[in-house]
Amino acid sequence: MLNLSNNKTHKIVPDDILQKALSGERLDGDDLLILLEEQKEKAGKKIIFTADTLNKKINSDKVSYVVNRNINFTNICGLNCKFCGYKRTKNSKDAFLLDYDKIIEKISDGIESIGIDEICVTGGINPELKANPDYYFNLVKIVRNNFPKLHIHAFSPQEIYELSETTGMTYAQVIEKLVDCGVNSMPGTAAEILAEETRKKICPQKINTTKWIEIIKTAHMLGVKTSATVLFGHLESSGDLAYHLSIIRQIQDETGGFTEFIALPFISAKTSLRKSIERNELIGENKVFKFYAILRLFLDNFKNIQTSWPKIGVPAALKSLDCGINDFGGTLMEENITKSAGGKFGEFLEEKEIINLIKHAGKIPVRRDTVYNYIYEKIYNKIL
Ligand code: SF4
Repeated sequence: MLNLSNNKTHKIVPDDILQKALSGERLDGDDLLILLEEQKEKAGKKIIFTADTLNKKINSDKVSYVVNRNINFTNICGLNCKFCGYKRTKNSKDAFLLDYDKIIEKISDGIESIGIDEICVTGGINPELKANPDYYFNLVKIVRNNFPKLHIHAFSPQEIYELSETTGMTYAQVIEKLVDCGVNSMPGTAAEILAEETRKKICPQKINTTKWIEIIKTAHMLGVKTSATVLFGHLESSGDLAYHLSIIRQIQDETGGFTEFIALPFISAKTSLRKSIERNELIGENKVFKFYAILRLFLDNFKNIQTSWPKIGVPAALKSLDCGINDFGGTLMEENITKSAGGKFGEFLEEKEIINLIKHAGKIPVRRDTVYNYIYEKIYNKIL
């Protein structure tokens, strides 16, 4: 997937690569690695400027967002990912598994208070649910029965794998059953980093890369769209990132099933992985911006690249809109996972606030649904 030739890297300079990207020519693995390895500040600025120019060609000044809420139904988890501050064991004081009434209450609250279009449903890999896989299917059925029009964005490839293991159904059968119950799309999380060696270091019990790819492609083949993600700023090398992005781009070529790419910087404060990373190696704002820009240049088959305000903060998320980013993400309402890892940038932004922030950044806010159909594009001023 990643084809790095030996005699090419010394001939190409970043300016050539940027020119290539601007002219619409596809960047290859060598180009990507050169951009990722580039450390000079001036070159970083050029990369960002080029990504911004390219993004404007594709998306003009439109910046989309979604009005949604997270439903994290359990924080009890039998896995032990080193970057995670969210998981709890069954006996932890703050461990929880939500019952359906509580979930319905949370959704009703989201609809009544901010008019959510989507719920994003994920949780820990709760060992108790292995004996009760129907919890997942019935959860979706009950939500669908109560909220016929709500978009249900639910269950990561890891959760699909666990359901397949416990029920004996194939990945395709699990996904089809979830769709029958009411699922509309899936988060492309649990990807973390797809370079196997590093993956084993940061999330040794998670599904391997081959299984992640198989589950994602199965979803796409069944017509279920997913997001695509990467966790960066931990132990990974530039080669790992190049490998990851090459896999994602290739899947998109094959299936067209990814709606957007979301790059998630590692939030370290309350995680065990933090101890393995020197303070001066923690990723800073400028590296995040440069990485976002490289995504725009390399992922030529993605229209939508999303920033992450809970992870980098609102001011940085606004600056990232000039680095090749065209999506601000969601209102979220109760963002638990980043907060548990030590994230300090909040868990909810009102729609009105998002609109004003985007406008203040000189962009045009566009409310979208989960699969990037634009709503309120023409009347966004009226909802202020
Ligand atoms: S990232 Fe998810 S699967 Fe991994 S330990 Fe945390 S809750 Fe469990």
